Amino acid sequence: VKIYNTLKHKKVSFKPMAEGQVKMYTCGPTVYYFAHIGNMRSYVVADLLKRVFIYNGYKVKHIMNLTDVGHLVSDANLGEDKMRLTAHSENKSLREIADEYSELFIKDMKRLNLIMPETMPRPSEHITEILNLIEILEKKGYLYTVETGVYYDTSKFKRYGQLMNLNFEELNKYLIGGIRIERPAGTKNTTDFAVWRFVKPEEKDMVWNTKYGRGFPGWHIECSAMSMKYLGEHFDIHTGGIDHLPIHHTNEIAQSESATGKRFVNYWVHNEFLQVDGKKMSKSLRNVYTLQDLIEKGYKINSYKYLVLSAHYRTQLNFTFESLKNAENTLNGIYSFVEKLSLHGVNKENNPNPKFATLVSRIKVQFIKSINDDMNTPLALAKLHLLISKTNKKLDKLSKADTELVLEALVDFDRILGLGFSEYLKQDIPKEVEMLILEREQLRKERKFSEADKIRSILKNEHNIEIEDTEGGSIWHKA
Ligand SMILES: [Zn+2]
Repeated sequence: VKIYNTLKHKKVSFKPMAEGQVKMYTCGPTVYYFAHIGNMRSYVVADLLKRVFIYNGYKVKHIMNLTDVGHLVSDANLGEDKMRLTAHSENKSLREIADEYSELFIKDMKRLNLIMPETMPRPSEHITEILNLIEILEKKGYLYTVETGVYYDTSKFKRYGQLMNLNFEELNKYLIGGIRIERPAGTKNTTDFAVWRFVKPEEKDMVWNTKYGRGFPGWHIECSAMSMKYLGEHFDIHTGGIDHLPIHHTNEIAQSESATGKRFVNYWVHNEFLQVDGKKMSKSLRNVYTLQDLIEKGYKINSYKYLVLSAHYRTQLNFTFESLKNAENTLNGIYSFVEKLSLHGVNKENNPNPKFATLVSRIKVQFIKSINDDMNTPLALAKLHLLISKTNKKLDKLSKADTELVLEALVDFDRILGLGFSEYLKQDIPKEVEMLILEREQLRKERKFSEADKIRSILKNEHNIEIEDTEGGSIWHKA
């Protein structure tokens, strides 16, 4: 498996720390609001990477956090805690907000057919681990206290900025110029960040009394403490959106490596942004969509997933409703092909064609090669479509044995894509129904629509089979 490692700024071959095993951490959502389709791209990509490793025979231990405290409005040091802000405005407790949005997020993960992480830890339940890490950093002299909290002195970490390929001064300049303009009073460097924040006396919710003061942890220290708890001080892969690069992941590395004195993570994997109509999503542009919005507009969740997979994860993806519609048509075409092929050749002699078998296995090798080459899903999907078009061209000459090879290949590809192809495999239906479906398809080809409609009614009324004619072809299912 080859993967682009942000830490090395190039594509490299993956070597696990322990033979056959991958330990992987993903920065999960801050559960103060709905995750939008841009956020969800990161989780689809993390799931894809996990599936690639599983496909290649690795055992994957995957941890994803749910941030329920400590993430401020700005990823840097300014503004209020996002969770606290929502809790105040909705007049709820932080716990209620966190529970509500965690549940919605997990529902979206399931709807996207993502393989659930082994554990989804929350910082509010890991305060002991976070404080232990702070104590180590304090003893090693990395911390100082100002009016608003306990800060990490980034000038003390030699490799600060390595993920951005910038040195300490360059990264400071980058942040002053780009991301943050002010910094909290008393802090020494623009890049310094709070590991523990103090709160006003009236704050009661998710506040802890500690020897460092009354308050709550910083966002970055949470991911370091929780990833190291579940995966060890040094592990294989850390994933997240590219927006985490300059601050969040840079700071995770600094505090983890200065605490343990060893390398924190071997491979850093980052996905690019998703834009809507060529623009960054924002509330003021009213172009922020959730998966639920897409469902309410009549789209299948898998169409969004197919759209995400059709772009390489390291390129920006421009989401438009037109591109979503195209993705849906293409995906329906695949589903309809799977259904059609499941019925193919039932009445013919079953003589396998060795030449065709060679073709199928050659395309299969190309698909896997693309996937293993830094998750090149656009190329892999092109191979999938090549298999479909080659099969369609030869369909009249193919036996059941031949088409079964194609179906096996598609179901195998779906172990990586996770688009639910096998749900469209039709095996256990009566012969009579099979014949009716095939007959209707032929009639539609001949544009004899009223006769085709008659068969549709028979299928529905007598056999409980519903047919949906999409631009990608007809799809049928038990009503
Ligand atoms: Zn994180």
